Amino acid sequence: MDHVLRLKALLPALSKNNLDALVVTHMPNVRYLCGFTGSSGVLLVTPKGVTFFTDGRYTEQAAQQVKGAKVVTSKGPPVAGAAKLMARFRGALGFEGDHTTVSARQSLLNFFPTAVRLKAVQGIVESLRLLKDANELAQIRAAVNLGSELFRPAVEAIRPGIRESQVAAEIEYAARKSGAEKMSFETIVASGQRSALPHGVASSSPIAAKGFVILDYGVILHGYCSDMTRTVHVGRVPLRARQMYRSVLEAQEAAIAAVAPGVGVGKVDAAARSVLRKAKLDRYFTHSTGHGVGLEIHEQPRVARGETSILRPGMVITIEPGVYLPGTGGVRIEDMVVVTERGCEILTSTTKELIEI
Ligand code: ZN
Ligand code: ZN
Repeated sequence: MDHVLRLKALLPALSKNNLDALVVTHMPNVRYLCGFTGSSGVLLVTPKGVTFFTDGRYTEQAAQQVKGAKVVTSKGPPVAGAAKLMARFRGALGFEGDHTTVSARQSLLNFFPTAVRLKAVQGIVESLRLLKDANELAQIRAAVNLGSELFRPAVEAIRPGIRESQVAAEIEYAARKSGAEKMSFETIVASGQRSALPHGVASSSPIAAKGFVILDYGVILHGYCSDMTRTVHVGRVPLRARQMYRSVLEAQEAAIAAVAPGVGVGKVDAAARSVLRKAKLDRYFTHSTGHGVGLEIHEQPRVARGETSILRPGMVITIEPGVYLPGTGGVRIEDMVVVTERGCEILTSTTKELIEI
């Protein structure tokens, strides 16, 4: 991973935003820029140099991990160390407006000298993170492959009467045994009527004797997230349920077919929606079609109606349309794809055939 290159790529963004320096506090951004994986640290980027501030707990770890920046261990909060270094600085210092609480902003104001003009900026580091480099793609592939392998133990765990939480436990146990650092979000196992809840986290309810079960989960491996959803059916699949499943699958495949460089994300969303409209199911598709994935589970771009981002090679997104009939059940199918020079490549390898349990 070339952190020096990433830090260099940040400099044009500073001048574009009329900034003389940038203080990075959002830990996934800190990790992206200098490699530090701990939970406490501040990265100060100036055209003259880059300094990473952390506290005593991380002296050893920072020395091992941080690339492209000088490491300073401060006695007080890391931000105080950064402010001390900027004592004689005059100019505009950007901070991450979309990751800074009101009280954290106040502490920036307290620590930094008044000659420093603090300016909230949005998405500067995130815009670099949009395009995954070869190293990141390799990490993402590994995370997605691990996630795909968990589908089998998940299906084997599903039986009527078994708690949803137990199925989630089997998925998570298998994930950890295979080396996952943790799950990338709370595992969703939603069965029967609960499958109509788009975000029904695994509850203590037993798996229903018949109906759909939505499994939506992901792992973190080497810092990178995976995210996938499969929907299986307990008991014989009634005709209407089969049609619903087929419509969601067709919508998902249509959206994937629309993914290519130069295409607006709104068009990808529309591709999924138009299939569901023909099946008269579009009003039950109540969320967006997908999202970027990387060091964080939800990244740019959002693949949704009204969004204007244009897809470019190296972006990694999910495609996850769903249909939820209140009181009946729901279906969602989600893959991760990477935008390539000519179209896209599906990363998730698990079957999308409807499985009867
Ligand atoms: Zn998901
Ligand atoms: Zn997702």
